[in-house]
Amino acid sequence: MLQGKTALITGSTSGIGLGIAKALAAQGANIVLNGFGDVEGPKAEIAALGVQVAYHGADMSKPAEIDDMVQFACRTFGGVDILVNNAGIQHVARIENFPIERWDSIIAINLSSAFHATRVALPGMLAKNWGRIINVASVHGLVGSAEKSAYVAAKHGVVGLTKVTALENATSGITCNAICPGWVLTPLVQKQVDAKAAALNISNEDAKGLLLGEKEPSKQFTTTEELGALAVFFCSPAANNIRGVAWNMDGGWVAQ
Ligand code: NAD
Repeated sequence: MLQGKTALITGSTSGIGLGIAKALAAQGANIVLNGFGDVEGPKAEIAALGVQVAYHGADMSKPAEIDDMVQFACRTFGGVDILVNNAGIQHVARIENFPIERWDSIIAINLSSAFHATRVALPGMLAKNWGRIINVASVHGLVGSAEKSAYVAAKHGVVGLTKVTALENATSGITCNAICPGWVLTPLVQKQVDAKAAALNISNEDAKGLLLGEKEPSKQFTTTEELGALAVFFCSPAANNIRGVAWNMDGGWVAQ
């Protein structure tokens, strides 16, 4: 379905970003990966799906590097047809104890990077009159949780940015929508499981159960494959007129 298209996914060396990259590659899209840590493993996983894959190591807290990443994608594959703004980090602390530099980096990486990548990728999409912008927000773009001030503020911002991006392009072939996952067992969440297990002196399995039990009625993690399938749907012709939604995939978290 996506042969001849190019997808740039930020923060795609791990977790949800890599899951979405694999799902889009399975539909034939060429992939530009981004993120830190192991690069060769994710590149090989994408190449095995029979598409072309490139990597750019832009730091999503640096606007000039984001600009360079989008230009690199255009030079390498002729444009960015699908932009998935996914890179994100977390820090958990009460507001009065929240380190200022953590606040600044969460707002930069989880929110401002989506503005910068969208800003630079849009002109190419407008020239082709086709594009898909998918912002990976969170249930925390819809509801709050204690000790996640920066994350919740950033993700609510992402949902707002999604609506404005959708509206500004509403008469074009460019759609913008947000995906709002509940708990997904990626390295970002495993750190929170580890912290709970250590704080309460309980096993990893019990800490996972507690985490799910607090928020997620289904008591199941959403998988990166399920999120990848939703991203593929947003890229399909059936989603041509889905504009500005924040679609939660959260085991009922936000329904409560
Ligand atoms: P993850 O830690 O597995 O992956 C994060 C990715 O972002 C990695 O590839 C990492 O290298 C990259 N990254 C981090 N800082 C970066 C920077 N400065 N520049 C470039 N890349 C950077 O986490 P994940 O759980 O897959 O999270 C992906 C997105 O999904 C985030 O936006 C997160 O907020 C969101 N999300 C996650 C969950 C969950 O339960 N895991 C739930 C809702 C939303």
